[in-house]
Order: sequence, then structure tokens, then C-alpha cells
Amino acid sequence: MRKKFIAGNWKMNLDNAAAVTLARELTRSLGDFVAADVAVCPSFVYLSAVAVSLKGGSITLGAQDVFYEANGAFTGEVSVAMLKDVGCTYTIIGHSERRHIIGEGNALINRKTRAALAGGVLPILCIGELLEERERGKTEAVLEEQLREGLVNISAQDMCKITIAYEPVWAIGTGKTASPQQAQDAHAFCRKIIADIFDKTTAQSVRIQYGGSVKADNAAELLGQPDVDGALVGGASLKVNDFIAIVKAGAKT
Ligand code: PEP
Repeated sequence: MRKKFIAGNWKMNLDNAAAVTLARELTRSLGDFVAADVAVCPSFVYLSAVAVSLKGGSITLGAQDVFYEANGAFTGEVSVAMLKDVGCTYTIIGHSERRHIIGEGNALINRKTRAALAGGVLPILCIGELLEERERGKTEAVLEEQLREGLVNISAQDMCKITIAYEPVWAIGTGKTASPQQAQDAHAFCRKIIADIFDKTTAQSVRIQYGGSVKADNAAELLGQPDVDGALVGGASLKVNDFIAIVKAGAKT
């Protein structure tokens, strides 16, 4: 049985005071809750402050991106060691906003994923199809390509440290959620591809989160699907009560 993993992606939101307050209130509400794994992913500039607010609780810290080089002349980038230094356990990699707004491709995402693994920060690797790709019946082809190219040169042992976040792009921040069946079908397909790249045991142990307008009122049904092992939550992770409700829904399923 895979323990559910709920992560909040705060994106480019909040200011220092609001990020600290949100982290403090979540920590106070959840205490030493361990029935699901929980992480929050603030902007780089608030990671250190949020790390302080999370002290003493069970919520872990994640970043929203990372660079693959260890150090040097890479203006504006942040290394894996820097993330570790400020207390990150996880980093999101290949979020659809980075793929489609910034223009990141699978090769770059793969380098970042391998660097995170090598440096001891656990990747949350995001994949997902555009609406037009779904409408043209290309969902599985897109997911397969993103998985195969994103997971090049990664061992089965390291694959077990990766969380896959299936996030249909048309469902992110739009209020349109994939139906539980659509999510389940996509997750089962991803697990099949992971089994093909690695092996069945590895595929069974990998956690696959769903992301895309997960809210307090749809979380239980989505998280109740057999291959949905958690959620990557954007908008609803900015509200204490909503995020806590999603975490608790994860703990029950
Ligand atoms: C996300 O940020 O990855 C996300 C899924 O956002 P939202 O929950 O707002 O759709």
C-alpha cells in the first residue's frame, strides 16, 4: 500500500509574511500528522523562512524547480545543494508552467531530475497533456514520451525516489478537474510505462500524484482511485482549511 503524498505548490504567490503565516497555521493544524506525507513548495525566496515555520511538525519543504549544475556562472539559477542547505526534501521538476511558459523540454527536465537524485533531493516530476492533445487522442502518446525521455539514465533504485505528478494541463488552475476515471486511466497507463521502462515492482512502489484543480470537495473521490497516490495542489493549497481537508481526504483513502 502506497502512502498518500499531498504537496502544495504555492507557485508565484504570497509574500514573506503570508508564506510564513500559512506554513505556521498548517503546521499548527496538522501537528505530527503522519497518516499521509505532506509537503509545501513556496517560492525560492521564501524557502528559508518557511523552513523555520515548519519546524517541529511533520510537513516537509519542497522547491518549485532546480538547476542541474552544482555551482558556478549560472545567473539566476538555484542548485540542488542550495535546496538541501535550506531544508528542502523535494523539488518539483517539469511543471507544466515551466514546460509551456518557460519552454522547458524533456531533455532539460531529465538533467534536472538526475541532478536532484544525485544530490539527495526527491523529484516530483510533472507530466501531462494539453487539451488539444487529449482531444486528438494523443494523451497516452504524450505521457509515454514525457516519461521515457524524462526518465532516461535513471536506475530502478532511483526511480523509487521519484514522485510522478500527472497534471493534465487543461485542468491546472482552470477549475476543470479530470474525472476520477480519467485520472485513474492516466495513472494506470503511467504505471504500465514505468513497469516497461523499469520493472513491475518498481512501478508498484512509485507514487503518482494527480494535479489539476484538486479541491476539498473533489479530493476524496480522486484520491480514492487505486492508482492515485496523492495530489499536487495549486490554488487550494493557499487556503489552510482547504489544504487540510485535502490532506485528511488523502489519509482516509
Ligand atoms: C499545480 O499548481 O500544479 C496545480 C495543479 O494547480 P491547481 O490545483 O490550482 O489546478
